[in-house]
Amino acid sequence: MLTLKFGGTSMGNARRILDSTEIMVGRASSDRISVIVSAVAGVSNALQAAIDNAVAGNSSAAAIDGIRRTHREICEELRSTLGGFDSERVMNEIEPNFKELGRLLDGVTTFGECPKSIHCRIMGMGELCCVPIVNAVLIAKKQSVVVLDSRKFIFTTGDQKEGDPDYARTAAALSPYRDGAEPNQARVLLFPGFVSAWSKNSGGETAMGLLGRNGSDFSASIVAAALGSKKCEFWTDVDGIYTADPRVVQDAILVDDMTYEEAMELSFFGSKVLHPKTLAPLAAKGIEAWSLNSQNPAARGTRIGRGPFESEKNAGPVRGISCLKKTSLISVSGSGMKGKTGIASRIFAAVSRAGISMLLITQSSSEYTISFCVKQSQSAKARDALNQEFALEIRDGLLNKIAVEEDTAIVSIIGDNMKMNCGVAGKFLDSLSSRGINIRAIAQGSSERSISVVVGGEFGDTAVRSAHLFFFNTAQPIEVFAFGAGTIGGALIEQIRDQHEKLLAQNVDIKVCAISTLEGMIIDANGIDLSGDWREAVRKSGKTTNLDEIIEFVKSTKPLNPVFVDCTASYDLPERYLDILRAGMSIATPNKRANSMSMEFYKKLRTVANESHRRFLYETNVGAGLPIIDTLQNLFKSGDTLTGFNGIMSGSLSYIFGKLDEGKKFSEAVKEAKELRYTEPDPRDDLKGTDVARKALIIARESGMSIELDDIKMNSIFPADFDIGGTVDEFMARLPEVDAYFDAKMAELRKEGKVLRMGASIRDGKVSVGMLEVGTDDPLYGVKGGENAFVFETARYTPIPLTVRGYGAGAGVTAAGVFGDIMRTVSFNPTK
Ligand code: ADP
Ligand code: ASP
Ligand code: MG
Repeated sequence: MLTLKFGGTSMGNARRILDSTEIMVGRASSDRISVIVSAVAGVSNALQAAIDNAVAGNSSAAAIDGIRRTHREICEELRSTLGGFDSERVMNEIEPNFKELGRLLDGVTTFGECPKSIHCRIMGMGELCCVPIVNAVLIAKKQSVVVLDSRKFIFTTGDQKEGDPDYARTAAALSPYRDGAEPNQARVLLFPGFVSAWSKNSGGETAMGLLGRNGSDFSASIVAAALGSKKCEFWTDVDGIYTADPRVVQDAILVDDMTYEEAMELSFFGSKVLHPKTLAPLAAKGIEAWSLNSQNPAARGTRIGRGPFESEKNAGPVRGISCLKKTSLISVSGSGMKGKTGIASRIFAAVSRAGISMLLITQSSSEYTISFCVKQSQSAKARDALNQEFALEIRDGLLNKIAVEEDTAIVSIIGDNMKMNCGVAGKFLDSLSSRGINIRAIAQGSSERSISVVVGGEFGDTAVRSAHLFFFNTAQPIEVFAFGAGTIGGALIEQIRDQHEKLLAQNVDIKVCAISTLEGMIIDANGIDLSGDWREAVRKSGKTTNLDEIIEFVKSTKPLNPVFVDCTASYDLPERYLDILRAGMSIATPNKRANSMSMEFYKKLRTVANESHRRFLYETNVGAGLPIIDTLQNLFKSGDTLTGFNGIMSGSLSYIFGKLDEGKKFSEAVKEAKELRYTEPDPRDDLKGTDVARKALIIARESGMSIELDDIKMNSIFPADFDIGGTVDEFMARLPEVDAYFDAKMAELRKEGKVLRMGASIRDGKVSVGMLEVGTDDPLYGVKGGENAFVFETARYTPIPLTVRGYGAGAGVTAAGVFGDIMRTVSFNPTK
């Protein structure tokens, strides 16, 4: 005897029913089989919705029509595709179910409530309607089938909606169907899942009961245990059990083998793949369970058994990660709890008397708090029971009022081998804190087979994804949201495209999820296809650039590592960086504006980034691709201090002043630089030194100075009586007036063996911008032709300063610098 269970997904439509019955026929050719079927996909949910609707006083006619139509359509299609399928007989057989459904729901509508007994009769209707269809298909396929009504064979007691099996009574009822018990036995026994013969007390009069939502899995294992099956197969819509719900974690890994205990724990803590009670009866009898895909029967599937398994040998400590949503965390706390015996047992007794089971329990070591989780639907009842139990203690201030945190999720990592590994819990908690997820409670199963944390409900999926990344070493995602795709942004997007494969080989999966420019905006959670003409796609998007839409998108889709890249020269956008960080994105930008705003904003930006566990990265703010910011941060983190700084931080000024060395006139040097487009369209924007001042400000702040842009002393390079106003052309025409001034200066300096440079200095707590007179022994002496140089004198780098020089501008190197920043958000290198 073999037991096969087909879930709603395997009964989704006529095609799937045919595929599933084909699997049954195949199995029946070599073994006798017992088959348990669920309701057609969606029907149980529709029935639940109809109950809710009726309780609210509404008519159920439309809902019933819908359910009837679903079944009729399946029958119609089966009739047209499968010869010998008696559709009329099936519809006649199930029609009374719809009639009864109508009567029951009308009653619910009238009374505005749905007692348990009625609830069970309504909810079980899905399975009762599915069985005749499957039966007729099997008959058409010439199988010898006996339908066994679970309402007469699977006995339960306890909660009518979520019964506990009466194994002995069930086994006795099914004993005539065990292999060899009777002559001429049918090869196929067909059972409706989910429904049962419930009685209040064992052995009593029965009514229709249920095994809880998703309970057909449990039906199958009860049947397998009662019939002494050699195997129990669970046919569903995925290839087996994965390391996490494949709907949540795209790159979840299929597990070959699992022990009963692991699978039990996984389903108990929310993995929908099997009903939590399913494995107990199988484990008790050593019946192997298999999770299989009815849409891909050739796949091996996952075996669940006693273990140990060969396949587990090389596996890591964690076998699966699950998330149980819609739970509440209840805390009992107060000074009166310290050292008192009996409080814990009173808590547990009161909750258990209320018929509520605790999903997880933790106690703080000071005994000051006991917290536990229950299903959210039971939290009010649990709270009331506890308030009543401890009314006196609460009145006397020994205990606080019972605290309930609604909408929490329990995220668990599970694996038999966890107990042999140290550091598993630490890694788990790291994975959550790296995403800024606040942990409300932690519990470890006494078997050390599971570690669970309680987090806010909205963080459940993110927590699973992040933990999965840490434990299964899957590619670490980076989701780039690019604002601005001009020379730097465009170069960056192309660099990302070109590096994608190489990074993937190093386990980093970088994708661009949004490109927003003045011409349009595209957003795609799966990553924009960059192989084609993405600029054209942006233009044709028909959307306008919209930061709020991106923020909302990130909040709702919760990517694991979103990085906002501001490649605009926007003056306003940086004011929204706080919102961007709070939405959960890191920021990487060459835009200097944010760091040169007020000191107050500068600090706030860092506070918010820390609070949000996100990074604010701006290596390219000074020196473009040159390693300046990171170098400084590393120096200062290790305790070094800045004692002085000189820098040439502008390519155009480097070029212009370098030309003076060669004897060029100042006006000619400027003209040449302008023609070569080394300067801004208006060269005064360079010559006034405002951009240099911003960079110097950032370096000064980086070194720990609290300073505003206005505090920087701007020493004009022009003689006081020179008029730098007017249009660009007027200015350029007037420029030769200062040639004599610079010639004189250069002549003087030449005598001393010096040259003239323009840049910034930091000395004695003051920042200044202007001309620097530089001798041969100065690192800035040879810096010209567009090169930048940064000379840091620090407590440790003395007397020879730390000098960084090279090209400090250009789309390619700047984009590469931003790329480097983006890569810094990958904060760890997970190992198995
Ligand atoms: P059925 O109708 O066959 O009972 P369910 O929808 O109840 O199917 O369960 C199968 C679903 O369980 C899968 O589609 C998958 O999304 C979900 N699931 C959750 N956790 C896991 C996991 N760890 N491995 C496989 N599937 C999982
Ligand atoms: N049809 C029931 C439900 O959806 C039982 C099952 O499918 O396992 O809950
Ligand atoms: Mg299921």
